[in-house]
Amino acid sequence: MSQDNQVVKYDDNNIFAKMLNSDIPHHKVYEDDKTLAFMDIMPQAEGHVLVIPKQKAIDLADLEPEYAAAVLMTSKKVMQAQRQVFAREGIIQMQLNGAQAGQTVFHYHVHLIPGNIHELGIH
Ligand code: C5P
Repeated sequence: MSQDNQVVKYDDNNIFAKMLNSDIPHHKVYEDDKTLAFMDIMPQAEGHVLVIPKQKAIDLADLEPEYAAAVLMTSKKVMQAQRQVFAREGIIQMQLNGAQAGQTVFHYHVHLIPGNIHELGIH
């Protein structure tokens, strides 16, 4: 919706839109009709996954309820898999809205990061 309080239009050429069109290679971990989950290219910890909706949404303000629900359900699946694979209880769910908040890719995405918040230095 906005970057630094300016109204911004969804960019069809953003990197995650290209992933959804299979124009950019990515390491997919899960996909259904409304969401895609893939490994973050610059992980903040081992097993860092991003979940995105198959909706042209910049941030949370744009997200339609059915896609919001689908992203949450996919996040639950990914988190359960991360707990099994990495034998970790701590899974950080993080989501940034707008450039001021640190968002760098302007297609809505949720980070799921296995780890200890105090060790990772992202809080
Ligand atoms: O929340 P934010 O917008 O800062 O996060 C964008 C995320 O997208 C980063 O963690 C970055 O590593 C990831 N990314 C990716 N593959 C790309 C470009 C960015 O996984 N090709």
